[in-house]
Amino acid sequence: MTTTPAPACDPGGRRITQSEALELYRRCSVHELGRLAHDVTMRLHPEPYRTYVVDRNINYSNICTARCAFCNFKVLPGRPGGYVLSFDEIDRKIEELIGIGGTQILMQGGLVPSDRLPFDWYLHLLRHIKTKFPAIHVHAFSPPEIFAFHRVFDMPVSDVLLRLQEAGLDTIPGGGAEILVDRVRNRIGVGKTKTAEYLQVVREAHRIGMRTSATMMFGHVETLSERVEHLARIRDLQDETGGVTAFICWTFQPENTPLGRIRPLPAEVHEPDGKRLALAGAHEYLRTLAISRVFLDNVPNLQASWVTQGPRIGELALFFGANDMGSVLMEENVVSAAGTAYCLTEREIRSLITDAGWEPRKRNCYYELLD
Ligand code: SF4
Repeated sequence: MTTTPAPACDPGGRRITQSEALELYRRCSVHELGRLAHDVTMRLHPEPYRTYVVDRNINYSNICTARCAFCNFKVLPGRPGGYVLSFDEIDRKIEELIGIGGTQILMQGGLVPSDRLPFDWYLHLLRHIKTKFPAIHVHAFSPPEIFAFHRVFDMPVSDVLLRLQEAGLDTIPGGGAEILVDRVRNRIGVGKTKTAEYLQVVREAHRIGMRTSATMMFGHVETLSERVEHLARIRDLQDETGGVTAFICWTFQPENTPLGRIRPLPAEVHEPDGKRLALAGAHEYLRTLAISRVFLDNVPNLQASWVTQGPRIGELALFFGANDMGSVLMEENVVSAAGTAYCLTEREIRSLITDAGWEPRKRNCYYELLD
C-alpha cells in the first residue's frame, strides 16, 4: 500500500499566519492545497450532505453614484437606462420565487441618490415584503449601500441598521467587499466605501444580532499579499463578533467593464504587481478557495461560486474547501452584465452535489436544513 506524503507546507490543522498563507500560495500545488482545504472541510463538515439555498436576486435599482471600474451594471443618475423596480414588480419576482419553492431574496441595488429614493422607500419596501410574504427571508443591502444610507440620510450607521431591521431586514449580504485594502479600493471602487467603513457596517450589524456573509472578488489589481490581508480582516472581525455565516469568493469578470480594458499581466508572472490586471482562471480560483478555507478557520461555511466558474468547477470546489453550492439563482444581473454568469436549476444543483458523492440538502440563510 502506498501513502501520499503530506504537503511540504502542511500547517497541520493549526491557525496559519498571513506569511504562512502567502507561503501556501507560493509553494503548494493546486493538489496539495485541495488536500489541505478538504481536510479542514471534512473536520468542520463531516456530515454526508452538502447544501444549497433557493433564492432570487432582486436588483431593485441600477442607479448608482459610484464608479466602480469592474462594474457594468450601474447607470449614473440622470443617464438613460436607469431604473427603480416598483413594488408590484418586486412582488411578481417573489411570487415566482415562491412558485419554485424559494425561501429568500437577495436584494441589492446601486448607491441611489436620496432625491430618487428616500429612506422611507426602503422601510416601506421591507414592511411591504414582510406583510405580503412573511415566510420570505430578506437578505439585503450590502455594506456599501448601508454606508451610503448613513451618508445621504445623515443618520448613524447603527440607526440605519436598527430601522431597517425593525422594518424587516433579516441579514446582510457581504457584497461590495472586493478586496478590503484601500490601495485596491481607491483604484477600482471610486465613490464606494473604504475598508474601515465597510467593516464598521458589518461590525455594527453583528452587534445588533444581524448575521452577514463575507465575500472577496479577486483576480484584478490586487497582489497576493493584499488578498491575504483581506482574508485576515475577515478572520479578525469574525474573532471579534462571530457574526459571519459564510464566505464566498469569486474571480473578477472583465468583459464589458472599464477595468477589463487594462493590459493583463503575462500568464507566467506568478505574483501580480498590483498595477496591472492579474486575471484569475479556474486554477487560481480553486487555489484561492482552498487557501481561504485553511485561513478562515473561524468561518463555518464556504460557498462554491459556480455562477462565475461554471457548474463543473463549482462541483470541484466541493473538494477545495466549499461545503455549500450557494444559491439557485432565478436571476443574476450584476455578474451577467460583466459578461459571465451561469444559470442552474435546483435539479441541476442537486445532481452536481450527488455526482460529487454527497446528499443534496436545501438550507436557509442560517445554514439550517429545510428538507
Ligand atoms: S459595483 Fe455597486 S457600487 Fe460599484 S458602481 Fe456597480 S452598482 Fe455601484
